[in-house]
Parts: sequence; structure tokens; C-alpha cells
Amino acid sequence: MTEVELREAAELDPTAFAELASVFEGDLVRPGDPTYDEHRRIWNGAIDRFPALIARCRGVADVQAAVTFGRQTGLPVAVRGGGHSFPGLSVNDGGIVIDLGPMNAIRVDPVARIARAGAGVRLGELDRATQPFGLAVPAGIVTTTGLAGLTLGGGIGWLMRKYGLTIDQLLSVDLVTAGGEFVKASATENADLFWGVRGGGGNFGIVTEFEFRLNPLGPMVLAGPIYWPIEESARVLRFYRDWITDVPDDLTTIVVHRAIPPLPAIPAELHGRQVVSVGVCYAGPIEDGERVVRPLRQFGSPLLDLCAPKPFLEHQSSLDSSLPPGYWYYFRAFDVAELTDEIIDITAEHAPGFKSPVAAFPIFQLGGAVARVGEQETVFNGRRAGYTFNINATTVTQDGFDEEREWSRTFWSALAPHHTSVYVNFLMDEGEERIRQAYGAEKYDRLKALKRKYDPDNFFRLNQNIRPD
Ligand SMILES: Cc1cc2nc3c(=O)[nH]c(=O)nc-3n(C[C@H](O)[C@H](O)[C@H](O)COP(=O)(O)OP(=O)(O)OC[C@H]3O[C@@H](n4cnc5c(N)ncnc54)[C@H](O)[C@@H]3O)c2cc1C
Repeated sequence: MTEVELREAAELDPTAFAELASVFEGDLVRPGDPTYDEHRRIWNGAIDRFPALIARCRGVADVQAAVTFGRQTGLPVAVRGGGHSFPGLSVNDGGIVIDLGPMNAIRVDPVARIARAGAGVRLGELDRATQPFGLAVPAGIVTTTGLAGLTLGGGIGWLMRKYGLTIDQLLSVDLVTAGGEFVKASATENADLFWGVRGGGGNFGIVTEFEFRLNPLGPMVLAGPIYWPIEESARVLRFYRDWITDVPDDLTTIVVHRAIPPLPAIPAELHGRQVVSVGVCYAGPIEDGERVVRPLRQFGSPLLDLCAPKPFLEHQSSLDSSLPPGYWYYFRAFDVAELTDEIIDITAEHAPGFKSPVAAFPIFQLGGAVARVGEQETVFNGRRAGYTFNINATTVTQDGFDEEREWSRTFWSALAPHHTSVYVNFLMDEGEERIRQAYGAEKYDRLKALKRKYDPDNFFRLNQNIRPD
């Protein structure tokens, strides 16, 4: 459909719309409204969709009203937290977007070490609210990412080896079901639902608020990347693989192959150079971190070493400018059990194949506290994996995008014999079989049964969908 056809098709049932408008506290944004373009856009610039209505909710009652409207009209419904879904699952053509962005209140209880966060909160906002108390919820590595979608898929990031995934801190959620009912879920209340939201995405309802346990952190950490030329990728990865086996769980590392960004902190002669980097975050005493990280810093001849003591908040925002909204993005992801020689060689062979000056693809080190939680305790399925690859093809505009995407696909296929699982939040729109792989057959069947109980009509289907049938 063209944009004009989509706008014409966006006529809403006037009676149902008037009913919604009479109770809705937030903004109801329609095609032609001055803020329509701002609110329909999502992080991935490659996705360009035109919903008939964006319901910007201010509270639970708004969410309930929007769900009721969705049922009355039969229009497709997308749910938006921070709008960072890679494949654009939080926006649709011709349907309703239930946008939780305005629900971004945060309450921190530093004594009980608990935070409550609304579904529109971004990661950086939660860090800024908790770090003044020396506390944190482990989450992702870019501050603009929505807390809601990230948490509902698991939540990996710089603190996970010390404290676990974001879902491992979750104490309870408030949720609106497909029937518009408001329920709570925790270990003691609707425990089956509480299991389902810890990795099962938005399949079971719309979470309106999260309650997290807080962990002591910083505010200073030893953190930052160390860069080597990309031609040394195989040597660096082999050293890294051996060194990492003995490091304490206070340390989480992420290997990134990328083009060096033109940042003021980086000498101009290195801008644009292809590198392999190991980013570190040591979440314990700085002196201990210096000792642990020393062998890495001394390996070979790094081009640049930006690892230094810094406030956690500064470290958390250090990748923001590399992954801005509006660029074109495409991802292929998978987990591997370990970095074998063969995996390293294939990685080193394919990594330099990107052409884009804004390319950057991460390999997250798992293990530590992530692996100490039982496989069946939550839906998240990668607890036994060693590493998560996310081969990210990025261009500033559509120019060159197809070529980068092909590179990502070819690279992914070359490592296919070594894939063990895949992190659900790193999937594109890849079909049911891949979603089953993300959860494993046993958990997938259990999720289907839960879906039949909480959303038998598959009202919430614009997500990594677990079909009830
Ligand atoms: C720049 C960037 C960096 C990232 N870094 C990390 C990282 O370090 N670690 C990590 O684990 N992941 C990371 N991710 C992946 C991220 O976890 C997912 O993209 C996640 O879905 C983003 O959440 P969101 O709320 O912004 O997404 P949205 O696009 O708003 O939503 C994503 C999905 O979640 C559903 N959803 C959103 N809110 C709710 C809700 N309140 N109730 C029910 N369903 C809901 C949506 O319907 C949709 O299906 C990153 C993504 C980006 C773009």
C-alpha cells in the first residue's frame, strides 16, 4: 500500500473512536496530526509504517481503554515501550499502536532496594534514578532502549555476569490482559504468568509497571574498550577466549568489530579504521579491576586503550552515538557454546567484510550470574550459552544497506553449524521455527499453553509471536 492508500484506509469506526476519546487521558494521534510522524517513527530507520491511531497512554485506564477499542474494531494492535524492536514490532500499517511512552514514572526505595518503573521508561532514565543511591538494575548497553521490551525478552548487558539478567531482578509486574483486565504477577500471585513475562515478550498482555530488586553498584566502574587492528582479530579472540576463562564475575566483556567512530576522544588518524575491540566493565573495586584487566591491556599492541575508571552512567551512554535512531539496521543473531578455533577463524574471516563506516557488531560474553539461574526458572533460554553474536548491518541511509545485509546473512550462515540458540530480543521477523529455537521445544510448548490461558485469540500477535494453536 502507498502512504496515501494507508491514510485513506485509516478511517476509524466513529462510534468506537468517540467512546475511546471520551475516556482517554493521553493523546490520540491520527494521520495528519502535527506529531504523527514523530510518534509513528521507531528506532530502526529501515521501518516506515503508518498506523491509523497512536494511543499515547498516560496510565493503566488508558491502556485498558485502548485494548477495548482494539477488540471492538478488530484492527491489528502493536504495543510500544521504547520503540527499539529491531524488526519494528511496535508499529504497524493501518492498525492501532498502544504507546506506553508517557508512562515513564520511576519510584526508587533505596532502603528496601526496590525500584518501580513505568512501561515507558528508557534504560538511561532508570540508571539516572538509581545511581545517586549507588544502586542499579542490570540492563542493556544503550541508554535510549526501552526498559519494557528489553525486560520482557530477558535483558543482557554490562552487569549481567555479576547480577544476572534484567528479568532476574524482577519482583512483580502489573499487566493488562487481552480481555482488558488488570492483574499482578509475581512469584506468589499468578506465578505462571510471572514465569511467562520473564522472557516471553509481550505475548501475554501489556505490562504497565515493573518492580525490580536493586543491586549495589559503583558509582565508579573500571570500563571502556581496548582496540586492535581488525587484521589481528583471530589472535585477539584466541587470547581473549583463554584469558576470559579465569576472570571473576565482576567483569563482563563485549567484543565489538567495528569502524572506529569519529569521536573527540579518539585521535583523528584512527577515525574510520576497522578494529576488533574488547569492551570491559568491572563492577567491583577499581584496584581489583585494574589487576584483572591488565593482561588484556598488555596483549599485543593495542591501537587505543579507553579503559579507565569512570562513572557507570558515563560508561552506559558510551555506545549511544554509535547506534542512533534513524539509521538503517538489520541483524542476524545466534548463541554459541564457546569460542572454538573454528568459530574464531570464521569470525576473523568474515568480520572485515562490512563496508559501512557506521558498522559495529557485538559478541556478548555470557556466563557468571546468568548461568547460575536454573534453566526452567524463567523463559529465557540462553543461560548455558557462552556467547551471543549479533551481526549488525548498519548504514546511515538506504544507500549500501542491501550490501551490508548480505554480508550479515553470509556471515551468519557460515557459523550456522555452531549455533546453539538465539536471544529472542535479537530476532528479526524470522518466523515460528526461529521463535521455537529461541525458547527450545519444551519451553515453547509450555508457552503455548500459557498463551491459550491468557490470550487464546492471539490478540497480542505483533511480537515474537507464540501462537496459541
Ligand atoms: C540500540 C539498541 C541496543 C540494544 N541493546 C540491548 C542490550 O544491550 N541488551 C538487550 O538485552 N537487548 C538490547 N537490545 C534489544 C532490545 O532488548 C529489544 O529491541 C527490545 O525489544 C527493546 O524494547 P523497547 O521497549 O524499546 O521495544 P519496542 O519496540 O517498544 O517493543 C518491542 C517488543 O516488546 C513489546 N512490548 C514493549 N513494551 C511492552 C509492554 N509494556 N508490555 C508488553 N509488551 C511490550 C512490543 O509489543 C514489541 O513486541 C537493543 C536494541 C537496540 C535498538
